[in-house]
Amino acid sequence: MKIRRLPENLINQIAAGEVVERPASALKELIENSIDAKATQIDIVLDNGGKNLISVSDNGIGIDKDHITLAIERHATSKLPNNDLNRIDFLGFRGEALPSIAAVSELTIQTKSESSTEAWALDVTAGNFENIYPSPRQQGTIISVKNLFYATPARLKFLKSSNVERSFCHQIVLKLALVNPVVGFRLQADGRELINLKSEHKTDPDDLYLSRIRKVMGSNFADEAIKIKNSRPIKNKGFAKINGFIGLPTLNKSNYSHQFLFINGRSIQDRNLSGAIRAAYGDTLPKGRFPIFCLYIDVPSEFIDVNVHPGKTEVRFEDNALIRSLIVGSISRELNVSYSQTTNEISKEAIQRFNTYNNLETKAPPTTLFSNNIEPSVRSINEPYKTIEQLEKDNSFDFPLGVALAQFSKNYIISRNSDGIVIVDQHAAHERLVLEKMKAARENKSIEKQILLLPEVINLDPIPLAMILDHIELMSEIGFVIEPFGEGMIVVREIPALLGDSDIKQIIVDLGDDLSSAGLPSSYLAKVDLILGNIACHRSVRSGRILNENEMNQLLREMERTPNSGQCNHGRPTSIRLSLKDIEKLFNRT
Ligand code: ADP
Ligand code: MG
Repeated sequence: MKIRRLPENLINQIAAGEVVERPASALKELIENSIDAKATQIDIVLDNGGKNLISVSDNGIGIDKDHITLAIERHATSKLPNNDLNRIDFLGFRGEALPSIAAVSELTIQTKSESSTEAWALDVTAGNFENIYPSPRQQGTIISVKNLFYATPARLKFLKSSNVERSFCHQIVLKLALVNPVVGFRLQADGRELINLKSEHKTDPDDLYLSRIRKVMGSNFADEAIKIKNSRPIKNKGFAKINGFIGLPTLNKSNYSHQFLFINGRSIQDRNLSGAIRAAYGDTLPKGRFPIFCLYIDVPSEFIDVNVHPGKTEVRFEDNALIRSLIVGSISRELNVSYSQTTNEISKEAIQRFNTYNNLETKAPPTTLFSNNIEPSVRSINEPYKTIEQLEKDNSFDFPLGVALAQFSKNYIISRNSDGIVIVDQHAAHERLVLEKMKAARENKSIEKQILLLPEVINLDPIPLAMILDHIELMSEIGFVIEPFGEGMIVVREIPALLGDSDIKQIIVDLGDDLSSAGLPSSYLAKVDLILGNIACHRSVRSGRILNENEMNQLLREMERTPNSGQCNHGRPTSIRLSLKDIEKLFNRT
């Protein structure tokens, strides 16, 4: 076989595979070009989630007549003035975006350069173009991309529904808006205005960003956010600075989707850094929950390499550890300041209790072992409701999960079987039971629905909203009757009867977040299982509840009957057993 050079257009189509994955990535490149062109107002129009049309119009410096065709030429850029990849001061530098997009779509540029009185236009179809021609444009540049990927049908097939693609685009605009507060952004999609953010004019930089953050991330976050401001010298190279805001631990989410990290003006996705930030919160956050933040890191441009990822969403630092410790150190310091008071009080209280306990012991033994935590409806270990002999006689101890002795901390059932002691995590067990029941009911098409007397109206972020709206039918098969309800909202009218006592709002919000970060498998059954699992495994299904003896024993018997009840849907155990032997070991008796 002969080796030959590929035609230019094919090269561009191949590059398009890396640079533009979907409408949102093309949109990101176009907006970044407008920002590089010093625009202060950017107007975006989308049709069909960007699949049919993406148009970005700006009031930036425009392109000179002689350079218009260069703009769509590969590796042609106006942004590396010194040919120095170590000093990248613009968002663009590869000269790849426009030629790649143009190779797989119908692209039109209309532009008026600042230094000229005339405006010009150029049409490119699947990479081919003729001459430029005069345009009526008054200022700046408008680039419109029609029928993205029509020239590469394989890619077209992988796009999601228009709703989902639209919400990816929405998310990109919000991200870029967070890091460019002086730029006004308007987004119109399929005839609806989704974003209209006016250019911010505050003089104090913190106020400037906070004002934009408030509009994008909501007042809930902005009102209580903790400010982060810190810097650290880099040898001979100036400073690494961190600015921004982090959410209180109480304002947490089920995944990374409310975390915004910008490095030198670029939105960056870095699991390691977000993991480090999660770690800085330590156990102030419940397990499996993620903090909300919007942080801006600025370092001298020669300190980072942004030429790592075609979409430019990753960077490498010359000194990773320094950045990590700057971020984590600054966050833990601020969290400590705001929490030292509360934690102080908690430890004082604990010491206090310990003292009273000791005092009690010297006077008279406490009446019950867990007197602070055991609810009055449940007898304590010291006062069994049947004598052990009685229980042994009716063989109750033969149940694998034994007979309930007490409930502890509203969430643990302590029971005794013939072998020793069993501790059951009531949440986890209940989650598993709900899941198995829902699965069985769905298989028999007998999911019982319960009409909500007060339908629950829920506000959702764009991507979770689109994910849920896209699966309305599937949700209804599981028992949720959901309808769209005005801008950014849904209304839940019916729910699976099994979830009667849960926090529906939290379940739906978490489900939307989980689906948008993890996506859904393609097979219908796998989808259903995944959604059911997510719903059942949420702590919101049932918060700690006081159970009486009967209810506890019922739960234990039900667990014994239910398949897979040994662990909750995400693999946490639902019970642990301590045999007499284990206990003797603990007391060094063996
Ligand atoms: P890069 O941004 O990496 O330079 P692009 O392919 O995105 O590569 O753009 C090529 C060139 O086209 C840019 O360097 C810039 O000079 C010009 N250009 C693109 N979009 C705009 C715009 N909105 N306003 C002014 N110039 C633009
Ligand atoms: Mg560019």
